[in-house]
Amino acid sequence: MCVEKTPWEQVIDFHGHTCPGIAIGYRVAILAQKEMGIRPTSDSELLVKAETRSCALDAFQIINKATIGRRALIIEDTHQPIYSFHFTGTQEILKITVNSALLEQFKSPNPDTLSPREKQNRNLEMIQHILTTAEKDFCTIERVHGELTKE
Ligand SMILES: [Zn+2]
Repeated sequence: MCVEKTPWEQVIDFHGHTCPGIAIGYRVAILAQKEMGIRPTSDSELLVKAETRSCALDAFQIINKATIGRRALIIEDTHQPIYSFHFTGTQEILKITVNSALLEQFKSPNPDTLSPREKQNRNLEMIQHILTTAEKDFCTIERVHGELTKE
């Protein structure tokens, strides 16, 4: 029997490991997918701009099909957890800003003293928190006027 992989499993497969970064990307990608809805026209393309170069980016390539190869994934590294989504041909950008305090409670004063198992457990707790925290605590969502263009 062939069991189809869930979107989360597909993202983890593609990314190659399970980490808080990809969990953030996954949640942002799913939110964006819901907020953006279907493509307005058949020749419109979804572009994504990420302002942090991180593990999160791989989720947009799988969930939103915004791939590096098609230049649909734009990286402008300002070290801000801001992700913008835009359908070409429209004048609207969906901007998702991840709450940077989200993971503060997991910060350890001296992370180097943690054993590999403790580190792994902490990672799993962070991922669980990222995926289940209330949307209002996870991010803010804005719609702004404008366009994204390919690099
Ligand atoms: Zn990762």
